Amino acid sequence: MSAVTQAPSPSLQAEEARLAAVERYDILDTPAEPAFDRIATLIRLVFGVETSIVSLIDAHRQWFKAAQGNDKGEVPRDISFCRHVVANGRPLVITDASQDPRFQNNPLVTAPRGVRFYAGVPLTTHDGHHIGTLCAIDSQPRDFSEREEAILQGLAQVAMSELELRRLATTDGLTGIATRRAFKEDALRFVALARRHRTQLSAVTFDIDKFKAINDTYGHAAGDTVLKAVTAAVTQHLRQSDIFGRLGGEEFAILLPDADGHAAMAVAEKLRHAILDLRFPGSHPPLIASASFGIATLDPSTDDLDRLLLKADEALYEAKRGGRNRAISWRGATGATTIEVERRRVLKAGKLVFNNRRSVISCTVRALWDKGAEVSVTPPNDLPEKVTLEIPSAAAHWEGRVTQRRPNGIELEFAP
Ligand code: GH3
Ligand code: MG
Ligand code: MG
Repeated sequence: MSAVTQAPSPSLQAEEARLAAVERYDILDTPAEPAFDRIATLIRLVFGVETSIVSLIDAHRQWFKAAQGNDKGEVPRDISFCRHVVANGRPLVITDASQDPRFQNNPLVTAPRGVRFYAGVPLTTHDGHHIGTLCAIDSQPRDFSEREEAILQGLAQVAMSELELRRLATTDGLTGIATRRAFKEDALRFVALARRHRTQLSAVTFDIDKFKAINDTYGHAAGDTVLKAVTAAVTQHLRQSDIFGRLGGEEFAILLPDADGHAAMAVAEKLRHAILDLRFPGSHPPLIASASFGIATLDPSTDDLDRLLLKADEALYEAKRGGRNRAISWRGATGATTIEVERRRVLKAGKLVFNNRRSVISCTVRALWDKGAEVSVTPPNDLPEKVTLEIPSAAAHWEGRVTQRRPNGIELEFAP
């Protein structure tokens, strides 16, 4: 049961505004990009440190947009050094963490070859939110001069300009189609119209099969050529009124207005064949590209854009599991059909509590409805079936049962 007992404290409200700023840049979980890799390389070169990280601070994790000398991809926010930089909005320099009472027991410090030196500066938006950090780390203690701190801050400004460029871009540099952000903006309007007028609307998502192997076998430039050829072929087969966007590296989405499930399946099959028919002269052995497709049709009473895309993605995963190079329609086999009420998209810092309150894990609440919540947490597989979800900023908590486990999170059903 939910229990609202008090108004949120100013610091919790500030954190929600900060999370909204993180969301604006829509960069979490996007693939590596050369511009940020270069910044990570520069940090390592300029300061001669072992590790450099360009990161964003989500509600429950520090996520790495670029990193050198650390391939974890993300760490829990609770143990992250960088969370202090974001909390204070100021650079933080620690010359020897093993001598610093704030950090000497931190698992990142006590680990073999653990952190000794740390220098981090915030990534600050023009409206003053600290959304992430740049940091330099080493397993040996060292000093950091004022001049070096100024250089790190300069690099943070460069990284921030890059983030700003992406926020404003509507077309993807490589393929010329809509960016994820632009796609979502258009798509939100289509979904609202379809709900208001009760017209059909379907989504098709697709993901190129074994694309990593294409890069590995033929090289990254050939991979880029495949991406361009695939998007050109798909664009050619779509109508002017369809919207088509690049959601991630080799993941795409299409919204088909006025299309029911059958029509959308026909489109997906046409696109699947168009991709199979692509030829890449000069590739040895001959390069054949294929893609897997997921199809979902909007249920106007329960779906918003995110849920529509999630359904299409679930079908897409099924197509991958079924052997790839195929199109599958969402059948609701995952239990998600039981949702009767509208989901509200939220972005709130939460806690999952279990094991008689002995275990508390930070999480990010992404959607909330009468009977449940969608929650990002890593790793989702270590959670028991019954957990309590707390949202401190709303002073609310619910007893819940895990009904779905996805790679980055879970879905919870609240106890009646
Ligand atoms: P699956 O069939 O399961 O989808 O396998 P996959 O190899 O396609 O999937 P995975 O997600 O493991 O790999 C995607 C690869 O796409 C990894 C990444 O390096 C590559 N990639 C992402 N963006 C680009 C890009 O812009 N250009 C090139 N050449 N490769 C990219
Ligand atoms: Mg793929
Ligand atoms: Mg993929």
